[in-house]
Amino acid sequence: MQVVERTFIAIKPDGVQRGLIGEIIKRFEVKGFTLVGLKLLNVSRELAEEHYSVHRERPFFAGLVEFITSGPVVAMVWEGDGVVASARQIIGATNPLTANPGTIRGDFGVNIGRNLIHGSDAVETAQREIALWFKDEELVNWSPTISKWLY
Ligand code: ADP
Ligand code: MG
Repeated sequence: MQVVERTFIAIKPDGVQRGLIGEIIKRFEVKGFTLVGLKLLNVSRELAEEHYSVHRERPFFAGLVEFITSGPVVAMVWEGDGVVASARQIIGATNPLTANPGTIRGDFGVNIGRNLIHGSDAVETAQREIALWFKDEELVNWSPTISKWLY
């Protein structure tokens, strides 16, 4: 079986509160990627600290964990060729003020600490984050190319 690339995407509490869930999902859908995992959840402190463990020593770490645990987050897994790098392009630069127009952060954000969305930065990171956020049985193996409802 061909191993298809997957990435972990999360709409942060600011993206959910600003009503951008549909807009953000649409950008990955119309690009041609396949949604294989989706849930809305309140993130525990333990999960937030583990997810951002690489930033543990950074001055913004405590505030970041506080923010991610402050309200519901939409966690997703998207699948497709080159999806990890492509999703990072769709998302845009970390600082929304310098993110290009046309990217999610460039179009909707102004504050580096409130940049709406997370996307894995490499294939290995994606594997770690998917395993951290989703159980195997929460991921759906399917392909839009074998749909019964398109004629
Ligand atoms: P990215 O989300 O683009 O991969 P990083 O991995 O560098 O960015 O940082 C993780 C998250 O930490 C960012 O998305 C942002 O929410 C937060 N962050 C990064 N740098 C800062 C900063 N200087 N001040 C406040 N928050 C920050
Ligand atoms: Mg990162």
